[in-house]
Amino acid sequence: MITVDDFAQEAKHWLAENKHLAPRDYGAICPPDMVNEGLAWQKHLYASGKAGIHWPVEFGGQGLTAAHQAQWLYECALVGVPGVFNMVGLVLTGGAVQKFGTPEQQAKHLNATLRAEHVWCQLFSEPGAGSDLGSLSTKAERDGDRYIVNGQKVWCSGARYSNWGILMARTNSDAPKHEGISFFLLDMSLPGIEIRPLKQMTGEAEFDEVFFTDVEMPAEALLGPLHGGWGVGMAVLTSERGHIGTSVISLERRLDSISRLAEGRDLSPTERQEIVKLLSKGMAYKAMAQRQGPVASTAASLMKLGITEMMFETSMLRSDISGMDSLLVGPEAFGVLSAPGGRIAGGTSQVQRNIIGERLLGLPREPSIKKPENN
Ligand SMILES: Cc1cc2nc3c(=O)[nH]c(=O)nc-3n(C[C@H](O)[C@H](O)[C@H](O)COP(=O)(O)OP(=O)(O)OC[C@H]3O[C@@H](n4cnc5c(N)ncnc54)[C@H](O)[C@@H]3O)c2cc1C
Repeated sequence: MITVDDFAQEAKHWLAENKHLAPRDYGAICPPDMVNEGLAWQKHLYASGKAGIHWPVEFGGQGLTAAHQAQWLYECALVGVPGVFNMVGLVLTGGAVQKFGTPEQQAKHLNATLRAEHVWCQLFSEPGAGSDLGSLSTKAERDGDRYIVNGQKVWCSGARYSNWGILMARTNSDAPKHEGISFFLLDMSLPGIEIRPLKQMTGEAEFDEVFFTDVEMPAEALLGPLHGGWGVGMAVLTSERGHIGTSVISLERRLDSISRLAEGRDLSPTERQEIVKLLSKGMAYKAMAQRQGPVASTAASLMKLGITEMMFETSMLRSDISGMDSLLVGPEAFGVLSAPGGRIAGGTSQVQRNIIGERLLGLPREPSIKKPENN
């Protein structure tokens, strides 16, 4: 197997020759107005053997290790191109289908996802179930050889351009809440699915609300055990946090650009100190990310928390340094408006702190609050 160092050299060379074909680095989720460029990039990555680097060869991957994949993301971040087009497909769905899928599901979805023929959105959050995802109420009721889906999802990034969705829905309303949920691979073209864009405070509309009315979903859409979807969902979310954590490299680039913003300006000692504080934190997180790689684990919560909080602080500092101009339109204003989202997506900062406290530090569990009945 090629060593990680040799792989890095080869990736650098390939990227130097091909980066002009890539869309700008949009982070984890491709915005709807860049989908065509994103699709073309993923197809080019696949054709060039740069998709599914640590996926097994039988699924169309390269059969290399997680360390090679981490190196790939690092090299892409260094030149400012997205390492994958559809994070929900290539990280979340890909991981879940490899771990829990039947051979038929693996054959149907994995290679098609690498080739960007199956593009995925995540249908988890609901108006009454975000951090407390176990309270979700969208139902999938068994009826012969199909499930009938009714309910609503919200904050679904890229739903309107996805042809598949990973769906968590309640299949047993009588069981304790975490034990009555199942995980499905949903064909988004089924009748009864309605998608409505949601406008954010940045003025963009990257999210959608998704409504289900008597959607007839085939029984083979179930991934993993019936009523055992909570375990599948948690494995998926841990991968998501790991992936968000690897954005440390693009963070380092942002910190570089912050240092450049300071050049030639008469900054106060406090502003200079803040810049150095962020740069030091950035270097520490980079070291931690390189040690951890893209492997999913509870420690991913540390990276997710640290990096998204730091991105937020960076946007605020950048806007402070830019002065009044940053209240107008422009990259500073956009940064201030979009940075809070990173602290919420994939599990909020408070929720990450709970996970770190309870699962990494072994602190007592937070008290559970019983919701009033019939509300
Ligand atoms: C950019 C972005 C992309 C997203 N993409 C998707 C997607 O593609 N698919 C999808 O399904 N969802 C997506 N989401 C939704 C996201 O997962 C939820 O917003 C998130 O889990 C929080 O849920 P909520 O919005 O319902 O907030 P709530 O859970 O209502 O939380 C409100 C506040 O209470 C705090 N809080 C809640 N519980 C606790 C607790 N136990 N301890 C301490 N504090 C607590 C939270 O930290 C938060 O500050 C996305 C969100 C964002 C911002």
